[in-house]
Amino acid sequence: MTIDAHIHLYPASVYENTRSWAEKWKEPYWLQCVSPSSGPTLQGWASVDQLLRDMDAAEVKQAIILGWYWENANTCYENISWQRDWIARHPDRLMAFAPFNAKGGSGSIDALKQAFECGFGGIGELNPPAQGYTYENETLDRAIALAGEHNVPVNFHVTDPTGHEYPGKIETPIDPLIALAKNHPETTFIFAHLAGMMELPQLRSLNNVYLDTAAVPLLYPRDIYQTAIESIGRDRILFGSDYPLRTFTKTQRKPDFKTHIDSLKNSGISQVDLGNIFDRNIKKILPQGRPLPNEAIS
Ligand SMILES: [Zn+2]
Repeated sequence: MTIDAHIHLYPASVYENTRSWAEKWKEPYWLQCVSPSSGPTLQGWASVDQLLRDMDAAEVKQAIILGWYWENANTCYENISWQRDWIARHPDRLMAFAPFNAKGGSGSIDALKQAFECGFGGIGELNPPAQGYTYENETLDRAIALAGEHNVPVNFHVTDPTGHEYPGKIETPIDPLIALAKNHPETTFIFAHLAGMMELPQLRSLNNVYLDTAAVPLLYPRDIYQTAIESIGRDRILFGSDYPLRTFTKTQRKPDFKTHIDSLKNSGISQVDLGNIFDRNIKKILPQGRPLPNEAIS
């Protein structure tokens, strides 16, 4: 059984009218990523029912719905309200990490506290350069400390500066991320997309840092998994797909989990490492004994 640590999800009202929705919420960066003005889009979309069918087809037991890295705190609150509904309806299959924008100040911290009360199991995906604040930000520090107090991880988007270009690509320097992980040893960090394969030996020395494999098929050849395992250790990598992104551009006509899972299984890494990546490692860092959403409401 597999736990997917990195997916995204939107209501139909968002993905059926991306342009007008993005204009209304003033989210041009998201629009550029999901619906680029030139070239084909890799973005796929799925309803929650389709998501659950695709999870079943690939024996994905649970998936973590990450929030997008919105430019506005208000959009983060809206996204949290969608996620609250999804995890309340499917508490056995779906988990949620709360989106966050430090520009919201104390309001954004309050939103995180409320989200944790509703059973959210982390914060992310964060991408400060895309969201209009810097890594050195007091409100961001408060959010990361709050995650530590609640014993939940924080997921940061990381871009490989040497990788190929794609719509919406934005630089995310690794040094400020390493500084955050060092300054917050009590908080668990997930650096998405194999941390852009940056500074993995140094990240190995930070016990509170994990990597996820989201969108890796889009970015690297298949032997990257073994390289990453050797660089950071077999207990520090989490399976993430970036569903419903179509990360196999040539073969994947609609989103699914199975293509990425099969490609990982056929990448030459050991059965033990597959087990670690597919579910053992994530189980070690997810909060235990949290109230289910339904319990929190009553
Ligand atoms: Zn990302």
